[in-house]
Amino acid sequence: MALSESVIREQFVLHGKSLYDRGLSGGSTGNMSVRLKDGFLASPTNSCLGRLDPARLSKLDGQGRHVSGDKPTKETFLHMAMYHQRPQDNAVVHLHSTYSVAVSCLADIDPEDVLPAITPYFIMRIGRLPLVPYFRPGDEALGQAVAAKAQAHHAILLANHGPVVSGKSLDAAVYATEELEETAKLYLLLRGHKTRSLTNEQVADLRHHFPT
Ligand code: ZN
Repeated sequence: MALSESVIREQFVLHGKSLYDRGLSGGSTGNMSVRLKDGFLASPTNSCLGRLDPARLSKLDGQGRHVSGDKPTKETFLHMAMYHQRPQDNAVVHLHSTYSVAVSCLADIDPEDVLPAITPYFIMRIGRLPLVPYFRPGDEALGQAVAAKAQAHHAILLANHGPVVSGKSLDAAVYATEELEETAKLYLLLRGHKTRSLTNEQVADLRHHFPT
């Protein structure tokens, strides 16, 4: 990555504040991480994304072990599951954002393809969204379940919990998480209404022109 670590730390804090200010990560929920040349930066445990300190972000080594800064989020294992399976990606965002969580609690959703293709932007920024079953918070088996999906998917929904999304950059991971949240909101707004989703041909055309 061309950006210096100090610039990455500043961007990290700005994205956290933006997510918090728009109600996408209330209280101390949600966490983010970025891959560096020599390891990772992660949001500290019990931190509020709206008030991160760039100097106190958790620094991890290449194996995800804490080396400096505050103690990392307890959900670090989710982030590491994504990085291990997706060497092409450099950032991970995990939120408990309202509409995505609401969709993750619905009965009878297809665990291989949670949200319908209602807009092209969902196909372009997310692709196909799988659902990972419920696990108790902190259960490391959740990391294994995420890892099993992560090679084929950069966005994964955790049942009764929230989304985990990786991207080539922190900007890309944040924007994709926002697109997922907006799509979940649209989906819930449209439930009960006759809806014209994109056709299979339109989705195939988008996947061809905008591979995720
Ligand atoms: Zn969580």
